[in-house]
Amino acid sequence: MDCLFCKILAGEIPSQKVYEDDNVYAFRDINPQAPVHVLIIPKKHIANVLECDLQTWTQLLQAVQTIAAQEGVAEDGFRIISNCGDNGCQSVHHLHIHLLGGAKLRETMA
Ligand code: AMP
Repeated sequence: MDCLFCKILAGEIPSQKVYEDDNVYAFRDINPQAPVHVLIIPKKHIANVLECDLQTWTQLLQAVQTIAAQEGVAEDGFRIISNCGDNGCQSVHHLHIHLLGGAKLRETMA
């Protein structure tokens, strides 16, 4: 499968690791939109939110909590986003959560 994030998981494409456990991997976005911009992905290939099972969601959201604390953004706040499909402007078709923080974000989201 020609999936960019599967290649990152396989170590074929380098990434700046932020967090890893048995089911989840997180790394810095190559084109950060905020001082902290981390991508949190399941290790198994899931295309997007529509295909995600509850167990994986739980694992991803537990990682969000850990990473927010680790990155020092839990207290001041942060935003999580998962783009889905064409209208959602999803460009990589391996489910990922963007975690953005480290500064006051824009109030508009679209
Ligand atoms: P989305 O547009 O929601 O699918 O997000 C894909 C994200 O992947 C974008 O924010 C890109 O900047 C990011 N991205 C693309 N290639 C890489 C890479 N090699 N390493 C880290 N982040 C990447």
